[in-house]
Amino acid sequence: MVDVTVDKLLAASPAFWAHKSKIQLPDGLFSFTGREYLKESMNEDVPLSADMKGTQGGASSVQMLKCLHAMITGRYPKGVLYLFPNADEMGDFSKCRFNPIINDNPDTIGRFVHDTDTVGLKRVNSSYLFMRGARLSQRLSLTEKASPKLSGIPVDKVVYDEWDFMDPGVREKAYGRMGDSEFKHEAFLGNPSIPDFGIDLIWQQTDQRYWQIRCSKCNAYTCLELDFPDCIQFDSEGKGVRVCIKCGAEIDRTKGEWVAKYPQRSKEAVGRRWSQLNSATVDPGTIVRAWEHPPDGNIADVYRFRLGQPYIESENRLTVQQVYACCSSEGMYPSDRGPCCMGVDVGGTLHVVVGKRTKTGTPHIVHVAEYKEFTDLPEVMRRYNVQAVAIDLYPETRAVRQFQASAGTYESISGVSVTCYIFGVEYLDKQVRGVVEDQQARVLKTSRTESMDGVHAIIADGKAVLPARSGKMEEYAKQMSNTAKVLQEDERGNRLYRYIRCGDGQDHYYHATNYCLMVLNHLPLHAEEPPSQYPEAPDKRFLGLEKRPQRSGGALSGLRRGA
Ligand SMILES: [Zn+2]
Repeated sequence: MVDVTVDKLLAASPAFWAHKSKIQLPDGLFSFTGREYLKESMNEDVPLSADMKGTQGGASSVQMLKCLHAMITGRYPKGVLYLFPNADEMGDFSKCRFNPIINDNPDTIGRFVHDTDTVGLKRVNSSYLFMRGARLSQRLSLTEKASPKLSGIPVDKVVYDEWDFMDPGVREKAYGRMGDSEFKHEAFLGNPSIPDFGIDLIWQQTDQRYWQIRCSKCNAYTCLELDFPDCIQFDSEGKGVRVCIKCGAEIDRTKGEWVAKYPQRSKEAVGRRWSQLNSATVDPGTIVRAWEHPPDGNIADVYRFRLGQPYIESENRLTVQQVYACCSSEGMYPSDRGPCCMGVDVGGTLHVVVGKRTKTGTPHIVHVAEYKEFTDLPEVMRRYNVQAVAIDLYPETRAVRQFQASAGTYESISGVSVTCYIFGVEYLDKQVRGVVEDQQARVLKTSRTESMDGVHAIIADGKAVLPARSGKMEEYAKQMSNTAKVLQEDERGNRLYRYIRCGDGQDHYYHATNYCLMVLNHLPLHAEEPPSQYPEAPDKRFLGLEKRPQRSGGALSGLRRGA
């Protein structure tokens, strides 16, 4: 009778199984003692979990044991896909962590694992554990993407270990491997890198749990992550002591519980943020000292690896406030005497930024808008007296080439024939000095990172004039903050800075602004005139509003993007 109950518990509770079986890990006996915070995730059964953490908390071991338990008990009949940042890390894990677990636990785990010869494939009971590498930095250029081989792998669960180092596109592919599964479970874990990216982006969609510790003296709750650094005091020997945020008494970090900020999401998506402040082996005083005096001045690593918190230096990402700080009181007029230049980012739609130079040479953006077709652009050029255009050469090179061929001369509002330079822009992943102009090929080549740095500097230093705040400018500001500069390593081990997308990933106006600025020097310096001097005095109802242009028709009417 007792045995039946134990067997049932062993099958139903991975935590009980791991505890009862005394599982030996490469770094010692697996135990919840001192790591009580791991118990919850061990027994959890939700479609999505995200563990955003400092290093060395044990979350990876929990995921691996959980997956093994589910395969041994037959709960996941198809199996599990366990993803690592790259093939080397996958190989190391297989050799240094997975194989020892099999060898050191012959009765509880080893006897169920039928080793296949492949490093990345193990049969566990009657299902399969696939281990694969999926690294972002396997991309050698911006157009070439790493593509882990995932075809023909049906699974019930996917684990993303160190999600911030993977190409976000791998998720869709991996999820597709669970099409026939009744579970479709996803587990994300990793150290955070920058805000609104990677594990932080996933975590934001979860119920956002924090480890809340109850004070035995006053019953108030303290969260070491949220109450840092006030929750750490020093004893007479300089050792850190965790204290109650309300009464100052020492608290016992093992007496905590995970509390969700958004409990209504808990059935679908569970997220935990864990820091080394809750570690059994780290003196929290060392974290306070590292935070106050970061080793090698590297505060980012203290936040990311010790506090489990995403971090970005302000010089690497614009804020919407910085963008607003450049907004003037002038709304967006439906036309401008210019001369103006125009940047166009080509995606699902065309994001357009039109600007001119003030008499001091400062960029003055006069028009920001989204258009559907290339055929919409000539009318914009006419209204703003556009004399130079820079357009993203990719991915629709043919459409750009056609546009270059057909839109280079037009009649301005005042009836003058205007010759307009139209360039395709090619971003390079290497360093280039400034913008290299190939007049003959009508292509501008520039370093992607350096030129994007230029946009950052102009906005951050308040050296651009933008239209007044409006709904359109709010979208513009959001997109300007949706890219961030991070240090990456390519597969040859070269470290280089790259801008990556963050937030909702829409950063089109950032690039359109960059392109616009690239051709700004094609314009003469412009003496600023009061708005009443504009060729078409705008009706005041247009101030700050966007007027959609009429389709131009004529010679361009047959030209459609992607044609
Ligand atoms: Zn207290």
